Amino acid sequence: MTSTFRLGRVAGIEIGIHWSWLVVVALITWSLAGGVFPETNPGLSDATYLAMALVAVPVFFATLLLHELGHALQAQREHMQIDGITLWVFGGVARFAGHFPSAGAEFRIAIAGPLVTLVLGIAFLATSVLVPLPAAVDGTLHWLGYINLLLLAFNLLPAFPLDGGRVLRSALWARRHDEREATRLAAGFGRGFGQMLIIGGLLLAITGAVIGGIWFVFIGWFLVAAAEAEAAEVTARAALAGLRVADAMIPHPVTVDGERSIQAFVDDVFLHHRHTAYPVVDDGRPTGLVTFRDAAGVARSAWATEHVADHRHRLRDILVLAPDQPLEDAWPALLSDPVRRALVTDAEGRLAGLLSSTDVMRILELGDRQPEAGVPAPK
Ligand SMILES: [Zn+2]
Repeated sequence: MTSTFRLGRVAGIEIGIHWSWLVVVALITWSLAGGVFPETNPGLSDATYLAMALVAVPVFFATLLLHELGHALQAQREHMQIDGITLWVFGGVARFAGHFPSAGAEFRIAIAGPLVTLVLGIAFLATSVLVPLPAAVDGTLHWLGYINLLLLAFNLLPAFPLDGGRVLRSALWARRHDEREATRLAAGFGRGFGQMLIIGGLLLAITGAVIGGIWFVFIGWFLVAAAEAEAAEVTARAALAGLRVADAMIPHPVTVDGERSIQAFVDDVFLHHRHTAYPVVDDGRPTGLVTFRDAAGVARSAWATEHVADHRHRLRDILVLAPDQPLEDAWPALLSDPVRRALVTDAEGRLAGLLSSTDVMRILELGDRQPEAGVPAPK
């Protein structure tokens, strides 16, 4: 989940919103001002309902952010790197880089967000009940308390990747000392729960509650997809554990001189070797990567005069890895790279190899690697 708009940084953590959240903001404002508030607080003016909605939605937005910051700050305390927080259609997502160091750490990170929501929900409701306030303020606080506790309940369902699912996974992980098995089980719960929501939503839609039914189907579909993605990632990580970039890369790849023309590149290099990407080298040092697609993007009439160097992906725009980097860390970066290839360079900046996502995929497709005879599988 990448952000469409960046809002800024809190405690060094980047905060952003996904476009889908703007749709939600509009929908919630509209349904609060036009339906929820007039129903729960009768006797006020339309302008008051609108004002209540315009206050409630940004505060709701802030509470979602605080929930995610709860996860993120706890993660920082566990020395996990945070890529950022994105608010989207289902609330917030804290994006963690790398994986959870231990079951205990995952539990503490997973429970930190719901604890924030619990405290906020109780604080809003208690203020609304205990402090005498004007009806409009009281109604707004009451809704904020109610929606936070409702979200808390949904979040704590033991369906991976909801927070409750993470709590379940960390408990299974702690009991069985097997992260992979714990993920498989928790993801199974998440998938099953998502499928139940989809079926329930379809039944609702057929029996007349179309909008509610569509929401259930949508949330269910999200849960199924997210559970499967997480399970696949953990399986991949397990398959790659113990391997280094050097184990999967192509050493001594065919290179192309940046000063060569596109015509020469196509005739002498591409048509000869038929690889789709080549490191570009100038004076023996790698300066980027060129793909056949880059060459094909140049007008045919200019092939003789255009140089490869002017159509390459520069070093700063591509993924550059070291040979001894763990493959399980390089894999997610490789997947999110637009060219899906990385140059591998040694400590002196010399070209050591080329790593493509298909090289890693081949290892993953072989499934569980057989440990070499006599050597125990890496833990
Ligand atoms: Zn959460």
